[in-house]
Amino acid sequence: MTNIKESLAFLKTTLPDYVHLVAVSKFHPVEAVQEAYDCGQRIFGENRPQEMSMKHPLLPQDIKWHMIGHLQTNKVKQIVPYVSMIESVDSLKLLTEINKQAEKIDRQIRVLLELHVAKEETKTGFSPEECRQLIGDGVLESMKHVKVCGLMCMATNTDDETRVHSDFAEANNFFSEIKDQYFAHDESFCYRSWGMTHDYKIAIEEGANIVRIGTLIFGERNYGGNGQ
Ligand SMILES: *Cc1c(COP(=O)(O)O)cnc(C)c1O
Repeated sequence: MTNIKESLAFLKTTLPDYVHLVAVSKFHPVEAVQEAYDCGQRIFGENRPQEMSMKHPLLPQDIKWHMIGHLQTNKVKQIVPYVSMIESVDSLKLLTEINKQAEKIDRQIRVLLELHVAKEETKTGFSPEECRQLIGDGVLESMKHVKVCGLMCMATNTDDETRVHSDFAEANNFFSEIKDQYFAHDESFCYRSWGMTHDYKIAIEEGANIVRIGTLIFGERNYGGNGQ
């Protein structure tokens, strides 16, 4: 059993003040979320809309819920009323659906574009070129109910730290390019979400200002459980 309070306190000592911590609570029970909340944690991340929507009504309403997993368009409607940020936008189709559902309830949803930098076929996200096209296209301007606030990425899943450094550095360089070219005067385009339990320190060295950490706070996930 992990001591959430101690783990969080330790983790905080390793994070610079400007880094936002998303506590990734997927597969952990609401009691664990509540415990982290009681220690002052307010941002939580989930990767399955059903699980997030199950937890949301059972927990304090000032929690900021971040969706960090691949989101199917038919699940958007379910989370749009309360989600604080959707970090894992990986297609124009998804972005369009978020805009549509948010418009219906007159919200503006903050999103990050998920960038594919890892050298693995399985990872989702936009390539830098696709991302440039999407932003350069001007299509975002017509979407008044989404606010693109930055980029999210995952590094290659490897022990090779040089590889991880270069993945995050690539994302960071790309962020600067996009920021300078399209968002220079838009203060809300400011988030670089990279880094998980095993690579968050490297991520911070490579410009992250959001880290998404689960295991270090809550312990190992039990995928056999029902997430409740
Ligand atoms: C699960 C998950 C995390 C957290 O992973 P840990 O290794 O438990 O810190 C971060 N980001 C994404 C996208 C995830 O799915």
